Amino acid sequence: MSRESLYELQQLDTETEVLNHRRVNLEQRGILEAALTEQAEHQVEIDAVAAARVEVANRQRRHEDEAQIVATKVQADEARLYSGEVQGVKDLEALQHEIAGLKERQEGFEDQALEAMEEAEELATRIAALEEARADVDGRIAVLRDEITVAEAEIDAEIERTAAARAAAASASSPELVAEYENLRPGFGSATVVHFDGNNCTGCPSTMPAMEVDRMKHEASGSILNCHECGRIVLR
Ligand SMILES: [Zn+2]
Repeated sequence: MSRESLYELQQLDTETEVLNHRRVNLEQRGILEAALTEQAEHQVEIDAVAAARVEVANRQRRHEDEAQIVATKVQADEARLYSGEVQGVKDLEALQHEIAGLKERQEGFEDQALEAMEEAEELATRIAALEEARADVDGRIAVLRDEITVAEAEIDAEIERTAAARAAAASASSPELVAEYENLRPGFGSATVVHFDGNNCTGCPSTMPAMEVDRMKHEASGSILNCHECGRIVLR
């Protein structure tokens, strides 16, 4: 059993923590988040413009129908006008007056239909521009997702390699020591196992009391101790 195995195990745990942190905090995740928000905003806008376009198209059709109904009446009245069945001057004048009024209404409906058609064309142009912008975001999202998948796979391979090395380091240490280290790790983190530098436990925040230094100095070099001052595992 190598006492350095415990130290190595600690380093491997720290390495794993760094790798996990890197995996969670991949730069692309933040960019992807922003791109997804952008995509959703584009979609909301596209949906709104598309709904407006449907409304405008319906309005155009309604005005076209109205113009058609009036045009049919105009045709009927004109047929009567030229048929000779209306004889009286007053009646003829009234009919001509009615036809003129109907033609005016027909033109009004046709103008409204044309207006709606132009509006629909503008909306269609806007939708096309928005869809192009969204396609651009879609493309960026796909690239980011690919990059994240690649980066995750790379990190996962490293985590796997680290896990294998940790298992080897753990089996080279005593199970009791590994258990003790694992108990202490949540409190001391990457400095749970420390070295004795000849005068101090390197984990102690302040200088060790002389008595404790003396105790450690008298232990055999290569032994594994507990610092009575800070509670860390000390490699003498
Ligand atoms: Zn200490």
